[in-house]
Amino acid sequence: MSVFPTDDRETRSLTLPETLESVRGVDLHLHSTSSDGKLSPTELADLCHARGMTHVALTDHDTLDGVEEARQRCRHHGIHLMAAAELSCQWRGIALHIVALLPHGTSRALDAGLASLAHARELRSREIAHRLEKVGLDDGLARARREAGSERPLGRPDFAAALVSAGVVPDIKTAFKRYLGAGKRGDVRMHWPELATVVGWIRDAQGIAVVAHPLRYGMTRRKRDLMFSAFIEAGGEAAELVSGYQNPDTTHDLARQLDFHGLYGSIGSDFHYPGGALSPGTISPPPRSHVEPVWCHPSLRGFACGE
Ligand code: AMP
Ligand code: MN
Ligand code: MN
Ligand code: MN
Repeated sequence: MSVFPTDDRETRSLTLPETLESVRGVDLHLHSTSSDGKLSPTELADLCHARGMTHVALTDHDTLDGVEEARQRCRHHGIHLMAAAELSCQWRGIALHIVALLPHGTSRALDAGLASLAHARELRSREIAHRLEKVGLDDGLARARREAGSERPLGRPDFAAALVSAGVVPDIKTAFKRYLGAGKRGDVRMHWPELATVVGWIRDAQGIAVVAHPLRYGMTRRKRDLMFSAFIEAGGEAAELVSGYQNPDTTHDLARQLDFHGLYGSIGSDFHYPGGALSPGTISPPPRSHVEPVWCHPSLRGFACGE
């Protein structure tokens, strides 16, 4: 069940509150067909509108391609859209996702970074296809391309779909569990740039770097501390306090950790497609904490105040 009513227009305000626990209508982590989401940017904006969203960020993997289309449709609905992307990188051999919130748009260095990520995806796709041949996926690259249904760079979900359509596994979940999840043979990380490099691109564009879903990397709390320290040293400033549904106790502890590191907190559903448990805005409200919302960052004042 969603936390938010379907069409509660009274909650649509132009200015966001200065605390995280009282917020509604904000979702700063959403995907479209520009990466591995199933709705076009326009369809996504329509759904955000239907769900009562007021402030959103389109965060497709390693690309800004959908932002302009989403912006036009969001403008039509009176929704504030932040240009953004979810960038792939690695830290100590662990694949991490960093959301780039880009109130000033992109920059030359970031554009070059995005181009290098597209190239990295290309090389990685070939490697994934090669590795999956050994488990019975023939012609994996072409199959994954067909599953993607467009020319966009491929991701692991496309290979998961290829494994299903080839009959190697019964469903997507099993594909990740056996072959594509963290540490499995199809989880190829070697092509991703380092964390500090990616944060550097975001800083170059005067953007805000946000660690996406910090609880989904299988790290101990201690390891997460080290990761946050490295992230901050590189110029990172925020992390997602809530990603989709989250246990309140877990969120409470994460809030303490963000507070300790002086990181701003962001929230997002990580929505990919309708029909699943998540839709835009399905975020467990975080408990009261000292963590400042990322929209209180001086660079995001215009966004938070609906300018
Ligand atoms: P990539 O960016 O190519 O490494 O693909 C990562 C994407 O795969 C994530 O953003 C999710 O959309 C999806 N994904 C990761 N793990 C799983 C899983 N266990 N089941 C289904 N989808 C997953
Ligand atoms: Mn994804
Ligand atoms: Mn992610
Ligand atoms: Mn995501």
